[in-house]
Amino acid sequence: MAHRYLVQFGPKQTPHLFIDILVIGAGIAGLRAALEIPQGLDVLVVTKDKIQQSNSAYAQGGIAGVLSPEDRFENHIEDTLRAGGGLCHRDIVEKVVREAPDQINDLIRWGTHFDEEDGHLALTREGGHSHRRIVHALGDATGYEVMRAIIERAAQTPNITLWGDTFTLDLLTHEDRCVGAVVSRPGQGLLLIWAKQTILASGGAGMVYRETTNPPVATGDGMAAAYRAGAELRDMEFMQFHPTVLYVAGSSRFLISEAVRGEGAYLRDRHGKRFMPDIDPRAELAPRDVVAQAIVRRMEETRHPNVYLDLSHLDKALVQRRFPGIDKVCKSFGLDITRDQIPIRPGAHYMMGGVTVDAEGHTTIAGLWAAGEVTSSGLHGANRLASNSLLEGLVFGAACGRGAAAVAATLPDSLTALPLQSRFAPETEGTLDVADITNSLRSGMVRHMGVMRDRAGLEQAQRDVDFWCRYVLAREFHDRPGWELQNLLTIARLMIQSALLREESRGVHLRSDYSQRDDATWQRHVVCPAMTSHFPLA
Ligand SMILES: Cc1cc2nc3c(=O)[nH]c(=O)nc-3n(C[C@H](O)[C@H](O)[C@H](O)COP(=O)(O)OP(=O)(O)OC[C@H]3O[C@@H](n4cnc5c(N)ncnc54)[C@H](O)[C@@H]3O)c2cc1C
Repeated sequence: MAHRYLVQFGPKQTPHLFIDILVIGAGIAGLRAALEIPQGLDVLVVTKDKIQQSNSAYAQGGIAGVLSPEDRFENHIEDTLRAGGGLCHRDIVEKVVREAPDQINDLIRWGTHFDEEDGHLALTREGGHSHRRIVHALGDATGYEVMRAIIERAAQTPNITLWGDTFTLDLLTHEDRCVGAVVSRPGQGLLLIWAKQTILASGGAGMVYRETTNPPVATGDGMAAAYRAGAELRDMEFMQFHPTVLYVAGSSRFLISEAVRGEGAYLRDRHGKRFMPDIDPRAELAPRDVVAQAIVRRMEETRHPNVYLDLSHLDKALVQRRFPGIDKVCKSFGLDITRDQIPIRPGAHYMMGGVTVDAEGHTTIAGLWAAGEVTSSGLHGANRLASNSLLEGLVFGAACGRGAAAVAATLPDSLTALPLQSRFAPETEGTLDVADITNSLRSGMVRHMGVMRDRAGLEQAQRDVDFWCRYVLAREFHDRPGWELQNLLTIARLMIQSALLREESRGVHLRSDYSQRDDATWQRHVVCPAMTSHFPLA
């Protein structure tokens, strides 16, 4: 049986901390939220690893925004809607697209150095974009540069306190309101943080797959904690697979940015055939779902574990200037990107589903806001358009910061601890090999919940995950690997269940047994069942 809280705590045994606004996660969404909160309110940002560790810091390609005189907001809106496979919310898409230039200008004001050409911002193109509109930095290390600037800004802001190595276990709720979080800190143990308002910005869940572009922090903790707290989650079947992940033994699945295809790279199969022009008129620049699915089909047809990226026909100097990071990593495996064919295959990249939020970032729980990859905001639909996610983090981060601050300012100054406690009888018999179960889960997700799915595979995945849940979720762990496994299992279960329900193919969700899109039945979200009916509360 799963429990409402991962760990046991009580008001007398656990230390307390009181804060105006708690932000969970120090990626682009969390820090952007913190920077929006006025000086009169104290903000605590907690993150489970070093402050620099987030998906945001690994972003390569850039941030989309209409900045060129040849481009129009309407183009960016249409491109986003088209990629999203009929599930985007037009009002949200319009809001995000129209705010993009201001958000990018704020980043510049705060010290981000985007790449320039002839004294203007250099703009590139990625799959699904009809125009050049992606700003980038340090060639292909946009996330690193943006996060450098934004972390520096947050560190210099007097009302913001940043805590690394602080693992959020669960959201505290009382009378259907979120009132803070229970966290664990090294050397200190559990701590109850009581907050007037809480902003969840804990990122995605790529680590639920063995092959992923995501760093180890992306274990879906915030989604799982919100689910346990009773928040609505939706669209969990929609995991985007990045088409081009380096496939070399020992390479830890390094992402080869879409911008490489934006600059003209080709995809070829093992026989050297360029296959994308036969599949989509946009060829290599078709949206990610189309390209990833075409690659998987080609791998099956040619009975080969990967296909290849070919940049050998492009200007050598341009390739080396635009992609210094990719060049360096490939060189370390003896590959020259200006000459050699680069072996690639799709890997789990971006979670479109998550905690349901409205245009301001409210979740379905009072006092809890959410922004960034942890959410389902209606921007991405069934398939995220490249370079729209850092942008979503900025727009919704700022909205959450504004909204949470406005509410917090109306509440009484002093907070008191509430009589909350978590008590259960954990199953403690026998030791568990947490790493072994984690590896089995991640391999099973690749096998049965990958780019192509069918009922038989999904049901097998469900049986496996249900079996592991029975004895893993009933326990109480005292360290990060155990908590992360509990969260990964919770998320995997929701993903598989949603994928089974959606009996059609749409966006990144490709069912070989329901290969057509079925708007009459499925042009809607799959909302996860509440925890009470799915995992009974202890
Ligand atoms: C390799 C790669 C390249 C990408 N390239 C691009 C790109 O070019 N353009 C683009 O728009 N998008 C890109 N993306 C996607 C984009 O980076 C993410 O969607 C975005 O950064 C998410 O931001 P976020 O703030 O929501 O989450 P994150 O940046 O992942 O931040 C989440 C934060 O929450 C913390 N956290 C997680 N769990 C806990 C917990 N239990 N307790 C406390 N803290 C916790 C993490 O440590 C982290 O600080 C890329 C992603 C990857 C992996």
